[in-house]
Amino acid sequence: MEDVRLERIREIIEPLRVEAGTAVVLERDFDPGNTGDMFDKKDSKRLLTTGVEMLDYYQSRLAAQDTYGVLLVLQALDAGGKDSTIRHVMSGVNPQGVVVHGFGVPSSEELDHDYLWRYQQKLPARGQIGIFNRSHYEEVVVVRVHPEILEGEQLPAEARGDGIWERRYRQINDWERFLVENGFPVAKVFLNLSKEEQRRRFLRRIDFPEKNWKFKARDVRERAHWDEYQIAFSEMLSATSTEHAPWYVIPADHKWFMRVAVAAVLVDTLAKIDPQYPTVDDEARKELAASKQELEAQAPDGVAADPVAEPAGKE
Ligand code: AMP
Ligand code: MG
Repeated sequence: MEDVRLERIREIIEPLRVEAGTAVVLERDFDPGNTGDMFDKKDSKRLLTTGVEMLDYYQSRLAAQDTYGVLLVLQALDAGGKDSTIRHVMSGVNPQGVVVHGFGVPSSEELDHDYLWRYQQKLPARGQIGIFNRSHYEEVVVVRVHPEILEGEQLPAEARGDGIWERRYRQINDWERFLVENGFPVAKVFLNLSKEEQRRRFLRRIDFPEKNWKFKARDVRERAHWDEYQIAFSEMLSATSTEHAPWYVIPADHKWFMRVAVAAVLVDTLAKIDPQYPTVDDEARKELAASKQELEAQAPDGVAADPVAEPAGKE
């Protein structure tokens, strides 16, 4: 893959990365309406097409190499655009190489285990790109905003109470480090929506009949907790953007910018792996030659021994 495109991609995502150890205040540090100065709406379609082509290029090599797997974590507020981002960014990639999992309210079986258990079950295999549509980060966001959810997690006394969020941040960082060190790079994107754009998107879901199914009155009630979510997301970003698994805060008010930026984060993660098609060793090359001879000997009368190697003028 030529370096200029990768360099361009790094220029797009660099300003969006949360440096490890910085204290993030979302509203102060990241503008949801930002579209940078790298490209405009007019260019975005072409750039997304390029990004999708690059994803396809890397995905086929990732699968063939079968050594690394990539986890893309998507977090956002309601109407942040997670679903449509997945649809657009993964549009040109072989579906066999991608696994997407959405995480909702945990089941009773899931609550009977430690809080990372259900996420562990859905990790990508080697060779795959896994996408978490919501993720283990709900465990330090929605669970923090709604303490009654924590009450339902059946935790022993020593796992609750003071310091629980700091402990969970540490546990999540440790878990992700374990994954990264074992061949599963983790890319994390937070789709950063403004309160006014969320209001508009909810209204669109109400006003357009084909969007009604997406609307839940619950979402509007959650909106009443906007400030608490901003704090929970800010602290999550501050505590869990690490050297091994950094967060990217993607401005989400303009979908055309958001999609290109998310594709760019994923391409960058794959480019760092730089997966390669396996090469054939001498032993295997001898086997190929022997099999070729065997197949050539089976050519029907009047047909070229190897019509693939000599397609023209030999019939
Ligand atoms: P949706 O993404 O629209 O299907 O909604 C999924 C719902 O599940 C959201 O309201 C999330 O806040 C909720 N949810 C996701 N993970 C958890 C969790 N670990 N504990 C409680 N609620 C969760
Ligand atoms: Mg929802």
